[in-house]
Amino acid sequence: MKLFGVLGDPISHSLSPVMHNAAFKSLGMDCEYHAFRVGTSDLYNAVHGAHALGFGGLNLTIPLKEKALEIVRPVPLAKEIGAVNTVDFKEGITGYNTDGLGAKMALEGSGVNTRRKKVLLLGAGGAARAIAFTLAKDRVDLTIANRTVDRAEKLAYDIKTCSVMTGGFENLKELVMDCDILINSTSTGMFPNAPETLVTSDMMHSGLTVFDIVYNPMNTLLLQEARKAGARTIDGVMMLVYQGAEAFKIWTDIYPPVDVMEKAVREELS
Ligand code: NAP
Repeated sequence: MKLFGVLGDPISHSLSPVMHNAAFKSLGMDCEYHAFRVGTSDLYNAVHGAHALGFGGLNLTIPLKEKALEIVRPVPLAKEIGAVNTVDFKEGITGYNTDGLGAKMALEGSGVNTRRKKVLLLGAGGAARAIAFTLAKDRVDLTIANRTVDRAEKLAYDIKTCSVMTGGFENLKELVMDCDILINSTSTGMFPNAPETLVTSDMMHSGLTVFDIVYNPMNTLLLQEARKAGARTIDGVMMLVYQGAEAFKIWTDIYPPVDVMEKAVREELS
């Protein structure tokens, strides 16, 4: 039996165990995935302990993703992003970040090619950084708008592969009307807060793709508004599934059945 886990605090609501265990079961693998409540002060011992115990791999979530850079050997993308969400033990202790690739695959899996498209990214936190670095490699025409403008400017400065426009939320309608893909990577609209959205249907056009990375609830107010405007919508479940699938592949060299993982997550959320 091989063990895997996700570390974080809080952790009891993590969907990763149900998602990965569904994949292990459907592949007939003798593996189990569990959630462990670990804060930043215990991260070093927890990661080295899992290594010593022969774990197959770990995921890291809030508040550990940035702190992990001091503990693991990060691959270049994780170092650029400044955060680690996946730890592999095959050659030492290596840190990866699969969030950005998860977002890109969620878009591509819905038939949206990002290459050279005009993308408006709302947010400049950890998830936004992962998405921005990944999409920048596709030479997208990227604009980052964030409540705290300094944070958007810092992210734009860190991205070296394409030029990035930045701003706050004051000209959001113009920015949305001018873009092909709108990605919400802020935590607005996330449970348990009341339904809220930074962008409403009157600010959107029907040629737009709206991708909300918030997955709880699955049908956010932003996505409801997007449907009213006739825009294409993508919810946050697929990013969760694809970032998990990438981690699974790093640990096992097997690409897991994403349909099984998606079903497990959607059942848990509903
Ligand atoms: P984070 O690092 O804390 O960043 C939060 C972002 O949201 C910042 O840009 C922050 O702006 C903004 N924000 C927070 N409250 C806001 C408000 N009331 N109005 C406007 N902007 C607000 O969090 P994160 O890790 O990036 O996660 C962000 C969201 O993505 C969460 O809902 C998380 O669950 C979701 N997520 C989903 C996936 C997935 O696989 N689908 C993966 C990772 C994260 P300031 O900079 O101004 O504070």
